[in-house]
Amino acid sequence: MKAFVVEAPFKASVQEVAEPACGPDEIRIAVERVGICGTDHHIFKGEFLSPYPIIPGHEFSGTIDQIGENVSSFTVGERVTADPTLVCGACYYCQTQRFNHCEQWGAIGNTVNGAMAEKVVVPAKNVMKLPDQMSFGEGAFVEPVACVVHGMNQLNAKAGDRAILFGVGAMGQQLVQALVKVGVSELTVVDVEEDKLALAVEWGATRGVLSTHLDEELAEERLFDIVVDATGIPAVVQKAFTFLGPAATYLQFGVTPQGSNVQLDPFTLYHKDLKLLGSMAINQTFIPAFHWVANQRVSVEHLIRRTVTLEDLAQYFQDGPTAKDMKTQLQI
Ligand SMILES: [Zn+2]
Ligand SMILES: [Zn+2]
Repeated sequence: MKAFVVEAPFKASVQEVAEPACGPDEIRIAVERVGICGTDHHIFKGEFLSPYPIIPGHEFSGTIDQIGENVSSFTVGERVTADPTLVCGACYYCQTQRFNHCEQWGAIGNTVNGAMAEKVVVPAKNVMKLPDQMSFGEGAFVEPVACVVHGMNQLNAKAGDRAILFGVGAMGQQLVQALVKVGVSELTVVDVEEDKLALAVEWGATRGVLSTHLDEELAEERLFDIVVDATGIPAVVQKAFTFLGPAATYLQFGVTPQGSNVQLDPFTLYHKDLKLLGSMAINQTFIPAFHWVANQRVSVEHLIRRTVTLEDLAQYFQDGPTAKDMKTQLQI
């Protein structure tokens, strides 16, 4: 089969490789769509703890191609998506509902071969059937939505909270929809792209502010109950801290480069009663996310701005994402 193989950082190509074998408790999927995300760019650049060579691709959908001998709940030809998370289920963190911190945490497309290929093998227990109304594009979007569900669970926003969100790319746009549904009374969004701000406002944000106009536009009302970073840019995080009001909650949703630093006076943390939160990947949130997408509680189809082919991928990763990009998906 054809697969996109990253042999080493910055060295990737489409290759002819052996089809993956389907184990007794596994399902093989003929891949249709694969979402490309920041993690894939990190794998391409050698900034993620992946083994090499690796086939990336952890946000995917497709059609069942083969079924392991112990699997009875699926049939060949069914349209499906799958949670890429691989956990042991037995360690201290798995046993205390912190599966995303499993001592043997792994993920399809991150630590083992993924879906940027004609076929991918996944544990049957990770697989979800797509309802007829859910497109392959939406099916491949459930995984990023599951990250948003985990972030929202961490945040525990309350009705009426006043929120500011930095970064309204593909992930930020989903956070906008989720925060609106939770019932925040105000949602200011900040970005460098006017059209992304306009889209966020269309989906319920109360105000869009260009980052270059941030200080002048928010000179008066700087204090929020909820501050979320979805940019992963340390300088933006530093700025975001200045918008934390008394007893506010801060959520680090964007992934910054490892080893970066921001400053926070511990007196401020104490005196303002602040809560500082992170949100790492998915923690048993794939099924809730699946229902969010299936029931159109969070709409994602309009965030898929571009599709590419296997042959386009090497150049796509070489060029890197641009500020105008939303979600790009690979069409196999
Ligand atoms: Zn992803
Ligand atoms: Zn574990």
